[in-house]
Amino acid sequence: MRDPINATPEPYKIKMIEPIHLIPADERKARLREAGWNTFLLRSRDVYIDLLTDSGTNAMSDRQWAALMVGDEAYAGSASFENLEAAIREVYGFPHVVPTHQGRGAEHLLSQSWIKPGQHVAGNMYFTTTRAHIELAGGIFEDVIVDEAHDPSAELPFKGNVDLKKLEAFIKRVGAANVAYVAVGCPVNMAGGQPVSLENLRATAELCRRHGVRVVMDGARAVENAAMIRAREKAWKGKPTAEILKEMCRQVDAISVSAKKDAYVNIGGFLATRDAELYEKAQNLCVLFEGLHTYGGLAGRDLEALAVGIREMVQDEWIEHRLAQVAYLGARLEAEGVPVVKPYGGHAVFVDAKAFLPHLDADELPAQSLAAWIYEACGVRAMERGVVSAGRDSKGSNRHPELELVRLTLPRRVYTQTHLDFVAREIGALKRRASNLPGLRFVREPKHLRFFQARFEPLPVKSAA
Ligand SMILES: *Cc1c(COP(=O)(O)O)cnc(C)c1O
Repeated sequence: MRDPINATPEPYKIKMIEPIHLIPADERKARLREAGWNTFLLRSRDVYIDLLTDSGTNAMSDRQWAALMVGDEAYAGSASFENLEAAIREVYGFPHVVPTHQGRGAEHLLSQSWIKPGQHVAGNMYFTTTRAHIELAGGIFEDVIVDEAHDPSAELPFKGNVDLKKLEAFIKRVGAANVAYVAVGCPVNMAGGQPVSLENLRATAELCRRHGVRVVMDGARAVENAAMIRAREKAWKGKPTAEILKEMCRQVDAISVSAKKDAYVNIGGFLATRDAELYEKAQNLCVLFEGLHTYGGLAGRDLEALAVGIREMVQDEWIEHRLAQVAYLGARLEAEGVPVVKPYGGHAVFVDAKAFLPHLDADELPAQSLAAWIYEACGVRAMERGVVSAGRDSKGSNRHPELELVRLTLPRRVYTQTHLDFVAREIGALKRRASNLPGLRFVREPKHLRFFQARFEPLPVKSAA
C-alpha cells in the first residue's frame, strides 16, 4: 500500500468549476445559531467545504453528462430503463431490477414485501433509514455485528463482519420462521465505514441458508467494500474490484442500493434480486410509492446517467483513488493529533468525538457539538453519528451507542488535496483548544430520524479539570 501521506494524483482533470467561499467567522457564528447548531440545517451557500455526506453530492463524468441527453422520457417501457437493467445485470449480476427514487425507496419496497409485523431482522449494526423502515413494517431489529466494531481504536481489517455466533444464537432464540431476513451492510456506515470480508459474507449466507433464512445486502457502498476486500483479504488480493463485487452479490438473495453513493449520480436507487416472488411484490409496491416499475420516481435521463455510473464505479483506477483520498485525509488528521477511527472507512474519516471532547458526557452530545464547532471554526460541514443519530428506543430512552463519531465524508471526484489539507489543519487547530468547547442540548426533537431536523442550544462552558 502507498504511504497515505503521499497523495495519489487524481485520475481526472477539471472541466467545469463551481465557486465556493469561506464566509467570515462572525457570520458563521450567526448562521450556526440560525441552524439550531445542527449542521443539517445550515444553508449550503454558507458552507465552505461540504463533508456532510457523499450521498448525491458526487461529480458526474463527462460521459454521464452526455448520457443525460439521450434519456428516453417515455412513461412506460423506457429504453433508458433497459440500459439500466442491462448495467445492473452485468455489474451486480441480479436478473430482476426495480428502480427507486433513492435507497430508502428500495428499503421500503423490501421491508414491506418481506416483513410480517412482529418478525425480526438481524443486521451488522443498524443504518438509520434501514432500521426506520424495518420498524415501520412492524419488524424488530437485532444487531449481530462483531464486538470489535464498537472499539474505535481496534485496528482490524474487517470490523463490519457479522458475528456468526450471535447470529446463530439469535435465529435459535426467535426461531427461523420469525426471522424475516438478515440484512448485511457492506460496508457498515455507522461503524465508521468498516467492511465485511467475503469469507464472512459467505459464512453468513451459508448459516442463513441452513436455517432457511433469506439474506439481503445493503449495497449503497458495496464497491468500496469490494475494494477493501481487494486490499485486505488474502484470497482476493489484487483481484479486479468488478469480480469481487459480483462474488459478493452471488451470496445474497437481494440487494438494496442507494445509487447516490458508489454510482456517482445525484439521485437514484434500486432493488435487485434473483427472487421472482420478491420482484413481483416489489414491482407492484413500486407503482404505489415510487412510480411505474420502469422508472421508479426517476427521469429517463437519471436512469441513463446511472447506467453509465455503474460501469464507471467498478473500474479499479477510480475506486482506488477514492480510498487513497480518504486515507490521505485520515493520515493528515492523525498527524495533527486528531483522534480518528482506524482503519479509515471507504467513504469517510470518522473523528472520535469522545476522545476529542473527553470533558463532555454522552448526554452533552459530544459528536453533535463537535460537528457544530468544526463549522464555526472553519466553515467545514460534517455530520454527527452518535447518540443523536441513534434516536430513542421503544421505551423512549436515548440509545447510547458506544461510538460517538463525527463523520468527514468525501464526495467523489469533488475536492482536491489542498481542500483536504485545509480541513486537517483547521480541525487540528480546534483540537488544541478543545477543552473550552461546550456541549449541546436538544431544544426541538422530531419523532422520525431526529438528527435531520433537530435543533439544539449550547450548554455553559465547563471549565477543564
Ligand atoms: C445512504 C444509505 C442508505 C439510504 O439511501 P438514500 O439514498 O439516502 O435513501 C441506506 N443504507 C446505507 C448503508 C446508506 O449509506
